[in-house]
Amino acid sequence: MKNAFHVMLIPTLGCPARCSYCWSSEPGSPIMRVETVYEVVEWLKNFRDDRVTFTFHGGEPLLAGADFYREALPLLSDGLAHMKPEFAMQTNLWLLTPEIADILAKYHVPLGTSIDGPRELNDLQRGEGYFDRTMKGYELAKAHGLKVSFICTFTSHSVKHKEEIFNFFKDHRFTLKLHPALPSLRTNTPHLWTLDPGEYGDLLVYLLDQYLEHIGEIEIMNINDLCRCVFTRRGSVCTFVDCMGSTFAIGPDGAIYPCYRFVGMPDFVMGNVEDHPTMDDLSKSPAWKFMQHYLDIVEQACGECSHIRYCRGGCPYNAIVPTDGKMHGVDPHCTAYRRVFDEISDRFNSELFGSSILEGGPLLGGPERAKRPGIMALMHRTMLR
Ligand code: SF4
Ligand code: SF4
Repeated sequence: MKNAFHVMLIPTLGCPARCSYCWSSEPGSPIMRVETVYEVVEWLKNFRDDRVTFTFHGGEPLLAGADFYREALPLLSDGLAHMKPEFAMQTNLWLLTPEIADILAKYHVPLGTSIDGPRELNDLQRGEGYFDRTMKGYELAKAHGLKVSFICTFTSHSVKHKEEIFNFFKDHRFTLKLHPALPSLRTNTPHLWTLDPGEYGDLLVYLLDQYLEHIGEIEIMNINDLCRCVFTRRGSVCTFVDCMGSTFAIGPDGAIYPCYRFVGMPDFVMGNVEDHPTMDDLSKSPAWKFMQHYLDIVEQACGECSHIRYCRGGCPYNAIVPTDGKMHGVDPHCTAYRRVFDEISDRFNSELFGSSILEGGPLLGGPERAKRPGIMALMHRTMLR
């Protein structure tokens, strides 16, 4: 299972790519100094005792270069050994070199990279030449023994090609994590690409069906996570837990934010690692209080929902984007979450209590099971991981 405490390190908001719908990169952004990583270690030494995952995110984190990682990884790993740090990185892989790959391999850093489907579709959204550069980095990463999974951003355009995209990932046996194109507080442009919540719900149910149809041929991380939520009745990714206090992001200058989505927005700075703030210090900041208010909104808006225990109103960032930074309601993706959670719960219940008992169905190896695997098959695979 994932660690309960997650710190995202954002070495820079700069990025050499120009994806059409991206709002998290910032040309000319400074690069984090290794002294800031040292301060992160000093800050966290007495902050919490839990196991921690550090994710290098951006912008493009490889812009920080080999020397940064050569120093930063042992600093974090040895300085916070009592928290048993694990690492991850989200990168487009363009700047991966054999030297950096060796450093990352030494610390078992799994990589998440981004491809939106076949070359033509990907490059239409992410820019000419993107696909080939990322795939070249992917080959290099694999050659150095690094684990790579793919994030596929579905936009209002690419969702029309969902079959083609699913087949691309399945045929290449790439592990897939999907991401809906989001609107942003930082710019209006991505609205052009934003995936409508209704379409997002349809997409999730489509992928659930395809996943069951092709079980063993592809991994879809979001579907695993959604099923795990329903089966264990608690969230296992940040979207489906109360993320405040369990996730932080550190900007290039050491500023502490609730999450990478807020990095670079002064109103959301809760403190700076150089001051080694305690949780109590952070909780006095206006940004913390603002985010904390989300819990009240969720209790009000989701109190009657059967999925509240493992959905928790979704993502607070998503919730405030449509209202220009004001907190008036829960994540607009509620429509999608409810749709797919209903679907998983209904299938689970009907397999468990329905045809399986009365008609010798899936659980008893009846005719349904012979046709195709049900949600129980996926549950077993997911829970055994
Ligand atoms: S604000 Fe959203 S993306 Fe960020 S940690 Fe919370 S749930 Fe996750
Ligand atoms: S599905 Fe919607 S109503 Fe239910 S808990 Fe999630 S956000 Fe709230």
